[in-house]
Amino acid sequence: MDTRAWIERFAAVIDERGAELTELDRLAGDGDYGTNLRLALAKVRANLDTDDPRTPGAVFTSVSNAFLNTGGTSGPLFGMWFREFAKGLGDEELSARSLSVAASEAEATVRRLGGAEVGHKTMVDAMVPAAQALTAAAERKADVETALKDAAEAAQVGALSTEELLAKRGRASYVGEHARGVVDPGALTVAWFFEAATAA
Ligand code: ADP
Ligand code: MG
Ligand code: MG
Repeated sequence: MDTRAWIERFAAVIDERGAELTELDRLAGDGDYGTNLRLALAKVRANLDTDDPRTPGAVFTSVSNAFLNTGGTSGPLFGMWFREFAKGLGDEELSARSLSVAASEAEATVRRLGGAEVGHKTMVDAMVPAAQALTAAAERKADVETALKDAAEAAQVGALSTEELLAKRGRASYVGEHARGVVDPGALTVAWFFEAATAA
């Protein structure tokens, strides 16, 4: 599994589908989400060029720094999420075990910083099931591709589950019933991130 290629595929998906995310944020927030995310990924590409990272940890450090320097509520939260991936993955080849440890630390950090739990209609609704799927995969000694496929499926289910929820955190919580029927764009991004890992 080539971590850098994974991130480049993720950036390409956001290029293609960022407008859908902006539309979701327009319906339930302030409509800047796709713009924030595209800016972050432009910085990711620049950092990858400059840093030329050679290990999973170094790749995720480049990614994290880009998000930490991007605005919106999502920028710093994704920045801290990716920072835990950087710490947890280090300089060894990706494995189901290292991914499960990293993703678990990462979702805990986002929950602590943002104060959102599962069911609050945020990125956390996809991050937590993805981490659980990685842990289950590691426990049955699945290979890294299988583990990431499981994570992508779990994140997708979690993201789509936000559609019927009322938001308890973030701007979508200000609009009450208007947010019902709108998938949370942050959660959808997490699903696309894991899908990009195994997309050919
Ligand atoms: P802003 O609301 O500042 O414009 P963005 O549009 O950049 O922020 O990001 C919105 C996304 O951030 C939401 O879709 C949601 O997933 C996520 N989010 C918002 N508040 C929180 C929170 N407290 N904890 C976790 N995620 C959050
Ligand atoms: Mg917004
Ligand atoms: Mg905003």
